[in-house]
Amino acid sequence: MASIYIHIPFCKQACHYCDFHFSTSLKKKSQLVSMLCKELVLRKDELPAEEIQCIYFGGGTPSLLDAEELKQLFDTIYTHYRIAENPEITLEANPDDLTPGKVEMLAASKINRLSIGIQSFFEEDLKLMNRAHNAKEALESINLAKAYFDNISIDLIYGIPGMSAARWCENLAKALKLKVPHISSYALTVEPNTALHKFIEKGKIKPVDDAAAKEHFQILVSTLTANSFEHYEFSNFGKPGYFSQNNMAYWLGKPYLGIGPGAHSFDRETRKWNISNNPLYIKALEKGELPQEMERLSTADKFNEYIMTRLRTKYGVGIVEIARKFGDTYEKHFQKQVIPLQKEELIKEEDGVYHITEKGKFLSDGIAADLFYLEAE
Ligand code: SF4
Repeated sequence: MASIYIHIPFCKQACHYCDFHFSTSLKKKSQLVSMLCKELVLRKDELPAEEIQCIYFGGGTPSLLDAEELKQLFDTIYTHYRIAENPEITLEANPDDLTPGKVEMLAASKINRLSIGIQSFFEEDLKLMNRAHNAKEALESINLAKAYFDNISIDLIYGIPGMSAARWCENLAKALKLKVPHISSYALTVEPNTALHKFIEKGKIKPVDDAAAKEHFQILVSTLTANSFEHYEFSNFGKPGYFSQNNMAYWLGKPYLGIGPGAHSFDRETRKWNISNNPLYIKALEKGELPQEMERLSTADKFNEYIMTRLRTKYGVGIVEIARKFGDTYEKHFQKQVIPLQKEELIKEEDGVYHITEKGKFLSDGIAADLFYLEAE
């Protein structure tokens, strides 16, 4: 089982916090879609034994695709790849794109899951982040989507400067009232070279308050789990039957093919990444070349990736699985490294499976790093 990820590198405007790869000039959109199709054809034999279970349109803003562009992509995928019987096909959408006509068009295509970038239901948060939609569009887009889609996820951001715990609670209450079956929620992070970083440096925006973000995370977990959402990955909450299959495949180490500028691919042995530049991507594909780099993963790389992703999920890290996948050296390394983390009550073990505790949840990246195997060992 494998997934195809397609990166749509265009956005109407730049959100102040974003460091993803995108362009706000849409002039080359249709040309780029043709090159995505060309890349799909050129790479059709990369995962020969795999049936495609998930297709994910991410970005950027995939809801900027029109009906013709989507059809072109689906025709190419269905002609050249072996697609499972009931694939999960997700499209990330921004609320301002979800007009009645657009939602109807998406529902008539093969897309069966929408992931809507709400981020907040409050005008002041949306303005601070320079989102292209307003609070009214945030609400309306979900109601419109619900008329056509059952499988809907929304993204919410917490830890926004100036966001009180009360406002965060209200955001969650609004989300619960809308009865969406999946919520992904992230702390606002200040990446270098973003507008947000500059505004904070210049004192125009208050810095992100880590203590507030931690409090918001605790509110998030307690509120959603009390409302029958399962906290199945650090940033993801789903009702039974609505976990993101695409993300699960990634966390469980299944292969994926990343198509488009900046997209990453993984085939269990190597990681590849495409150039993050739209004109150079187009130029290379026009010549029939793949603008990508590759690294072969060592056993240590694979072990570290396993620790990093699994510790964030409800599945945890299994000692038998470590021995089977990576061998004795890694099993012994893990058993030695985990002892201090257990003593500090950051990790707990049950039947040979290790999970991060409530106390450790907001420290998961540091905990994983303590368990990493360094090649020099
Ligand atoms: S819409 Fe998404 S990808 Fe585009 S700038 Fe905003 S956060 Fe980044």
